[in-house]
Amino acid sequence: MVNPLTGKNFEPSWRIAEFLPEALEFYADVERQIGRQVWYPFPVLRLAGSDKEWRKMVSKLDAPDVAPWVAGEVAAPDGWVGAVEVRGGGRLDTRAFMDGSRGFFEELGCYRQGEVSLTGNSGNVIWCEGAAGLMAGRCGPHRCAKGEILTLRAEGWDQCRIRIGAGGWLVPQGGGVFKVGSTYEWDELDELPTDRGRARVEEIASRLGGEVFDVIGHEAGVRPILRRSQPLIGPLDEGGWMFNALGSKGSLYAPGMAGRLAHWLVDGVEPEPEVDFREFREQTRRDESR
Ligand SMILES: Cc1cc2nc3c(=O)[nH]c(=O)nc-3n(C[C@H](O)[C@H](O)[C@H](O)COP(=O)(O)OP(=O)(O)OC[C@H]3O[C@@H](n4cnc5c(N)ncnc54)[C@H](O)[C@@H]3O)c2cc1C
Repeated sequence: MVNPLTGKNFEPSWRIAEFLPEALEFYADVERQIGRQVWYPFPVLRLAGSDKEWRKMVSKLDAPDVAPWVAGEVAAPDGWVGAVEVRGGGRLDTRAFMDGSRGFFEELGCYRQGEVSLTGNSGNVIWCEGAAGLMAGRCGPHRCAKGEILTLRAEGWDQCRIRIGAGGWLVPQGGGVFKVGSTYEWDELDELPTDRGRARVEEIASRLGGEVFDVIGHEAGVRPILRRSQPLIGPLDEGGWMFNALGSKGSLYAPGMAGRLAHWLVDGVEPEPEVDFREFREQTRRDESR
């Protein structure tokens, strides 16, 4: 899911005005290359569950960085205090994207599955290891967070908008199927679905969709986080390059960050210091030595 205005503070995702157009251009290009739809634009219905939350949202509606993403206030569904429709959101069909991309690279003869062998020049390796790499300590201290999501089948629920509220989200997949999430867990960083996680996500589903649904899938994963959901790229001390820390916003940031990394590697053009892993690592070391 991509949701332009996020969190309790109803704020634009970090630098979304630059990264979203880059992502959409990239996904449109991928669709042309693989002949399959991967990006599904959806309005986002942001729901306020309390007067306090609603007052905060209303106070932000005209802010210069928020207003471009606001389509308008809309009638709140039963049980909610207020609702705002947000524009610019959508769903990336990650499975179609990955399968299509794999097929594309297989046809070019440059797809190789499995572990990376480092018998050659490791300076050319780009470590896109996600949370596994961060948890192995390759990039220093991390803040990875486990999350659980459910896939549901439900009749009569709104299939035209993503819903955000009650600390969670509900994303229509078509054909009466929805994804709903998610939990946050910082201590047990495994990929195992739990009863507790399921119960929490079912609660979110009841609040956002309705009481009646069938659970048809339950997954857990770990979000790769170094510094909130702000991605980083750059050379590693031990050789090779890192491309990581996409947090819970890989669909939004991966295309723009990959473009920056390619520009750096191929043309020698360094990215903004804000996304340069070397800057981040220096800052971390300064913080640690204090
Ligand atoms: C519960 C949950 C909800 C989320 N919701 C959203 C959302 O709504 N929107 C969104 O944009 N993002 C969301 N994310 C985040 C998104 O999944 C990540 O940002 C994204 O997957 C990061 O991509 P990545 O390629 O860096 O890492 P990954 O997707 O983790 O991919 C890394 C891959 O590399 C493999 N690997 C690791 N080490 C090695 C090695 N040494 N050799 C070979 N292979 C290796 C791993 O097995 C894995 O397949 C969510 C994540 C979670 C857990």
